[in-house]
Amino acid sequence: MTNKKKPHFLLVVGLMITAACLCFTGCNSKNIAEYQGTFHALDTIAGMTLYSDTLTEKELAEAASSAEDLCRELENVFSSRLSGSSLYLLNGDAKEGPVKVREDLFYVIKSALEYAHLTDGAFDPTLLDIIEEWGIGTADPHVPEASFTESHKALRNYSNVTLDDEEASVSFDTANFRLDLGAIAKGYICDRMKELLVSEYGIESGLINMGGNVLTIGDNMKKGRPWNVGIADPHDPSSSIISLNVTDKSLVTSGTYQRYFQEDGHIYHHILDPFTAYPADTGLLSVSILTGGSMDADALSTGVFVLGPEKGLKLIEELEDTECILITEDGEFLFSKGAKKYLSDQVTP
Ligand code: ADP
Ligand code: MG
Repeated sequence: MTNKKKPHFLLVVGLMITAACLCFTGCNSKNIAEYQGTFHALDTIAGMTLYSDTLTEKELAEAASSAEDLCRELENVFSSRLSGSSLYLLNGDAKEGPVKVREDLFYVIKSALEYAHLTDGAFDPTLLDIIEEWGIGTADPHVPEASFTESHKALRNYSNVTLDDEEASVSFDTANFRLDLGAIAKGYICDRMKELLVSEYGIESGLINMGGNVLTIGDNMKKGRPWNVGIADPHDPSSSIISLNVTDKSLVTSGTYQRYFQEDGHIYHHILDPFTAYPADTGLLSVSILTGGSMDADALSTGVFVLGPEKGLKLIEELEDTECILITEDGEFLFSKGAKKYLSDQVTP
């Protein structure tokens, strides 16, 4: 018996050593160039990490710089606050009649209306007047007068936006609202940056981090495994409470801790319930969505937050290749059916 087993045993050990050596030399024979950088855009500090075994560090830096330029260019299209942005101009003119807009703006508005429809209005891109009145994230946040919230919650409504596909034009059926794309545009911009990095520069490994929006390209080439992306601890957002293995997908989190103010001991955060014109109060502290596109994840993270755990999870289960992790005020974690398989035990990125 023992004599028979020995050759097998030696063969297996030999194969294992050979495989380990091959992997070791294989992994190290790659000369991996690296870019790591940050920049300020979209009211947040954005970070980019890029790896390549074919491009030089200089080429990676050029790619990152083009992606950063694209981000700034698109911020000037989608920001509802920058006077002169395409959205700002549209908000001024669309109540007079149809306004032709850029293709990218038309696409994001159309997608926003689709998400409004999908979430039964929990996600609503027509809240700018209400958002501005609350002023959350500005120097002067305050609880609006009851008369304001009462009248404005009835005025906003995504169904009052009319699109003409042929003309790529937008019009508002009433003059009582303006569009805000703050819950979807950041995701769209991340998608465009990824597309540029992949198709124009051939980048196969990277991570774009814009506040709560993370979008990955391929795997983490340097570590030879998926990217390890953390979900912030809502009580201590500078540290992660869970990490996920993410390959070529986006993880977007909407949370109460991202922008808020306190008055009379009450916390008022920036994700509003369109039906009350008040911060959504569904017992959640954060919603993280994992899916291929960052725009989809961005819109869904806001929509599911407003829908709350029950309706939100139900919606996510109906969508293909889309997972979510919710953190409740009671400290509970709620996972969609396929989310747990992405959990990572790695604590470092
Ligand atoms: P963040 O901007 O922190 O990444 P979100 O993606 O959840 O967070 O977007 C929140 C922003 O979207 C708000 O600051 C506001 O501009 C806008 N917003 C707030 N509530 C809603 C809502 N119910 N539907 C659509 N947009 C919203
Ligand atoms: Mg969002």
